[in-house]
Amino acid sequence: MPRAGLGHHPVTAPFFGLGQIEVARKRIDGHVRRTFTDLSPSLSNRMGQPVWLKLEHQQITGSFKLRGATNAVLALDDAARARGIVAVSTGNHGRALAHAARQAGARAVICMSNLVPQAKIDGIAALGAEIRIIGHSQDEAQREVDRLIAEDGMTTIPPFDHPEVIAGQGTLGLELLDDVPDVDTVLVQLSGGGLISGVAAAIKAHRPDMRIIGITMERGAAMHASLRAGKPVEVEELPTLADSLGGGIGLDNRFTFAMTRALVDDVILLSEEEIAAGICHCYYREGQIVEGSGSVGVAALLANKVRSNGPIAVILSGGNIDMTDHRTLVCGGAP
Ligand SMILES: *Cc1c(COP(=O)(O)O)cnc(C)c1O
Repeated sequence: MPRAGLGHHPVTAPFFGLGQIEVARKRIDGHVRRTFTDLSPSLSNRMGQPVWLKLEHQQITGSFKLRGATNAVLALDDAARARGIVAVSTGNHGRALAHAARQAGARAVICMSNLVPQAKIDGIAALGAEIRIIGHSQDEAQREVDRLIAEDGMTTIPPFDHPEVIAGQGTLGLELLDDVPDVDTVLVQLSGGGLISGVAAAIKAHRPDMRIIGITMERGAAMHASLRAGKPVEVEELPTLADSLGGGIGLDNRFTFAMTRALVDDVILLSEEEIAAGICHCYYREGQIVEGSGSVGVAALLANKVRSNGPIAVILSGGNIDMTDHRTLVCGGAP
């Protein structure tokens, strides 16, 4: 039986059909890696159900963000690509855009404030993007992006609230369906909602009975607060081990809020200790270096916060963690 969404809202959202996700899959084929889905013996024993891990932290640039960024860049016409792509992003989206633009022969300009650590700047520059350091805040950097759009005709690609980005992330859901068609419950990271919207749209088009659970942190979960409020709201951004899940969903959110509300069955929140345990489990039991945001699905299983009557799929969404921070976390020894 199809389940109603979180707030039992009908799917009236500017909703993405499977068609757009299938187009994305063909478009990005050969540009992104087809990642593996592996059985986790230790988590399967623990849950009494097969638990499958989608190893998306092994994606090129270290996260699934390359799927959406590549789809959006390749969907631009030649003239727009020649004028170039511009964005504010120091994280996985910035890395993905830099790589996708270079692969497509387009110029990419990433604007950042002077508060961004040198290691992050170097990482994005190494992928071939031009870096502009502007002012002391993200807002000042955003004004430079707005200027380049207005004056130079550059195009910006946002990290989640964009049809081609959502469709690109949805290709991960199609791969999961191919690999583990009998899954009952899928655990998906939830921040701005691009990943979960695309994955849920892909999966529910084929299997409306499959449960899609959003996983996020207690500290500063903007989508969770927005779902509660029934509209996009702002929350205070707090430091967290799941740093790729920080940030707001945009008060003028167009797609991902409505899609998440319609398609996601439940949301689970995690403490910092629980997230740390997820990172350590991935390292000691799975042999994988996974960032905090990438390991929240595993963390939710370890915290006994997931019930499932059948096989479970967990996405390891990213692996970009400062290796010194990672070493400090895992040096406490095996959990
Ligand atoms: C961006 C990101 C997420 C969250 O994706 P949204 O589309 O914003 O919900 C999860 N994990 C990693 C590693 C990310 O980079």
